[in-house]
Amino acid sequence: MTSPFPAFRARWRELKDLAGLVGLASWDQETYMPPQAASARAGQMATLQGLYHERLVDPVLGQLLERAREAAQTDDEKAEVRVATLERDRAVRVPADLVRALADAQSRGVEQWKAAREAKRFDVFAPSLQKLLKLRREQADALGHEGNRYDALLEAYEPGLRSDRLMKTLAALREALVPRVQKWATPAPTLLDGRKFPKDAQWRFTLRLLKDMGFDFEAGRQDLSTHPFTGGTHPKDVRLTTRIDETNPFPALFGAIHEGGHGLFEQGFAEADFGTALAAAPSMGLHESQSRLWENLVGRSAPFWEHYYPLFQKECPDALAGVSLEQWLSQVNRVERTLVRVDADEVTYNLHIILRTELERALLAGDLSVEGLPGAWREAMDKLLGIRPQDDKDGVLQDIHWAWGEFGYFPTYALGNLYAAQMYAAAERDLGPLAPHLRRGDLRPLQQWLSKNVHAQGYRYPAETLVERVTGKGLDQEAFVRYLDAKFD
Ligand code: ZN
Repeated sequence: MTSPFPAFRARWRELKDLAGLVGLASWDQETYMPPQAASARAGQMATLQGLYHERLVDPVLGQLLERAREAAQTDDEKAEVRVATLERDRAVRVPADLVRALADAQSRGVEQWKAAREAKRFDVFAPSLQKLLKLRREQADALGHEGNRYDALLEAYEPGLRSDRLMKTLAALREALVPRVQKWATPAPTLLDGRKFPKDAQWRFTLRLLKDMGFDFEAGRQDLSTHPFTGGTHPKDVRLTTRIDETNPFPALFGAIHEGGHGLFEQGFAEADFGTALAAAPSMGLHESQSRLWENLVGRSAPFWEHYYPLFQKECPDALAGVSLEQWLSQVNRVERTLVRVDADEVTYNLHIILRTELERALLAGDLSVEGLPGAWREAMDKLLGIRPQDDKDGVLQDIHWAWGEFGYFPTYALGNLYAAQMYAAAERDLGPLAPHLRRGDLRPLQQWLSKNVHAQGYRYPAETLVERVTGKGLDQEAFVRYLDAKFD
């Protein structure tokens, strides 16, 4: 009997090709596309995505997968079949009319959310949210679960993770964070207000940082976009974007380091895995661990800036005249109670995530009504951070995720923070203290360690299994809390 693997892999490569072109089209949409192309592009993307779905649910692929499962011998072959089956099964289980209804409710949801933000009134968005919740419950039931619908949705972002385990970890994290925020949060003086950081200087500096991190510009590039992201078409074609604000260098600096962390993951898959189901990250949280590790554990550390601050000062001599390294670090590491998640520092950030995760679980389970959501939000903000939003725009309407019907996505940000701290500790266990390297601007030892232990593994293991193999422990908040204590206490 001939091996089914070549035929299965050829089919999978086609899917990767289509996904790559969707990546190219959406990157273009966010960077260089002329405004009048918007509706044509939306149609082109829908056609490509339709083709992708058609090829994925094609019964021929199902038969090939079935045969590959029987023929799989090596661990890699078994992993390949497992990963491909996971993705295909999710696509097959949801009926086409539900997919259409969801797509429709999502675009309506985003529209209503924008209008509601404009009016600063949650009730404008409430009917859309109601509808999205109803459809997501149907989708969760179609996908299948063991009594907890949230698990079925979480699975899309964190395959293998169950919400009981997630919530237990987040509860322990919450308990550790609330008193620490009370202790550490101070309204720090802003030293950089009114200063001008030239665009060119910021741009050049982000390129330098990415290069030092090991990002390969022969296999990727950086451009500008309103909302920074990492995309692209292939591990040899990774597209990063950043945003430059002349009055504040942090979005460009930390945005570039963050996306660079994602980019290294995408460029780091093993060449032998290209085009297969293994050339992928095992979860959103694991992907985010790489961006957060670089952004926070490296990019907000004192040793890192001991090397890079004088260089950045040289790039922006007027803006940084008279600002010492210590003052710069105090700006980089401010801990403050803020209303808006995307502005939050690394100490308070996870509390914003815990709030959203608890509320969306309650919404999905029907334990919290849509009408009750804004009030529950304000109360939770008060409990967790000790502040209350003035209006819904800075409260329950601040993120686009629920407008898009994404439930189960938020926790991946917190998982990224926790996994990042676990991995950084494991890297220091293996390599010794990293500070001396960072002080020299030598980011390669860490990059090579991540590349070998994380990136090149691709999707061989579920996220938590990989973390356990690399660090000796599964999902755990302790390394993160230890990291915070060492830095802020
Ligand atoms: Zn990210």
